[in-house]
Amino acid sequence: KSKLTIGLIPADGIGKEVIPAAQQVLEAVSPNKFAFLHLDAGFELFQKTGVALPEETVEKLKSECAGALFGAVSSPSHKVAGYSSPIVALRKRMDLYANVRPVASPVGAAGKPIDMLIIRENTECLYIKSERLETLPDGTKVAWADRKITEYASKRIARMAFKMALQRGKLREAKRQQGGSVAWQGQPKVTVVHKSNVLSVSDGLFRESCLAVHKEDPSFAGVKLEEQLVDSMVYRMFREPDVFDVAVAPNLYGDIISDGAAALVGSLGVVAGANVGDNFVLGEPVHGSAPDIAGKGIANPIAAIRSAALLLEHLGLASEASRIHSAVDKVLNEQAQAMTPDLGGRGTTKGVTDAVIKLL
Ligand code: NAD
Ligand code: MN
Repeated sequence: KSKLTIGLIPADGIGKEVIPAAQQVLEAVSPNKFAFLHLDAGFELFQKTGVALPEETVEKLKSECAGALFGAVSSPSHKVAGYSSPIVALRKRMDLYANVRPVASPVGAAGKPIDMLIIRENTECLYIKSERLETLPDGTKVAWADRKITEYASKRIARMAFKMALQRGKLREAKRQQGGSVAWQGQPKVTVVHKSNVLSVSDGLFRESCLAVHKEDPSFAGVKLEEQLVDSMVYRMFREPDVFDVAVAPNLYGDIISDGAAALVGSLGVVAGANVGDNFVLGEPVHGSAPDIAGKGIANPIAAIRSAALLLEHLGLASEASRIHSAVDKVLNEQAQAMTPDLGGRGTTKGVTDAVIKLL
């Protein structure tokens, strides 16, 4: 039978350590099922060749890959002539309009369970990077940035949020009937995150689009709709993280709250993500290239491993995905010492990866 081709784009920093770990897990969960295509992108590549995202990478993703995994890029904080983040570009070029980020404590862990899904709009907002610098008559500078919010993209992301809330509700119900425990007890809920009290035009359009979508489809009536201003969203996430089910947010807010939410479940090193479009999925951990620990062999591979599982779910390989998640949950719950330093252990990338593979 023919193999499924998975594109691998480790890019920079710890991306080069955690993507190979995820590849090993994929090879172990279903030997001979996947073929891997190694593709280039990143800031290091840009420094060598002047190109951060080669056309060949985009072409091969589109023509040869069933799905892909991306590591992280080391985008500098200062302007570099000719450079633009390849991941931001890829999301736009392939219309991967939703960044889906589950933030959950391991199944079976002690303490109050957290199980939220952050859905970040992935194509617009301030990430259109339309910026200008102007010098005033007095010689001081002023910088401008455009923020684009469309009804089209806002409704599209809202639809995804309501659909996923319903789907999660069904999975929880099935689990309950099998006698399992679930973190979120209420009916499916979508929290719309915005700042419409100040930005009543742009965030206002995002908010109104989400509210309109809630009414547009009768099945969405089964989902409770809640609104939260982004600043108090952060507050509530720290105070009562267990009250959230699905949260949907414009690009920048979604980026920020998902890094924050990672602290609720131990580390950025465990939070997975997937860039989802109608025709393609690119798994990508929430974390960046972590230059402070890159090259030391101690990056936590779990975020990348769970991102690979998310990719499998989207490719229809639910049982393989759930075997990966169960193995990861077990390692997290039972082998604290073996964990990498971000989780307080003394383990290594290789050690954690081997422990997961052993339990598959
Ligand atoms: P970061 O996510 O790289 O790191 C933040 C902190 O979390 C660091 O202390 C790091 O060591 C830790 N951390 C992150 N992932 C970890 C893992 N898997 N295991 C253990 N610890 C982990 O964020 P940053 O430091 O703000 O950014 C560093 C670089 O990454 C920047 O150049 C930024 O542009 C880039 N970045 C890229 C992406 C992406 O490719 N999608 C996302 C965010 C940041
Ligand atoms: Mn981020």
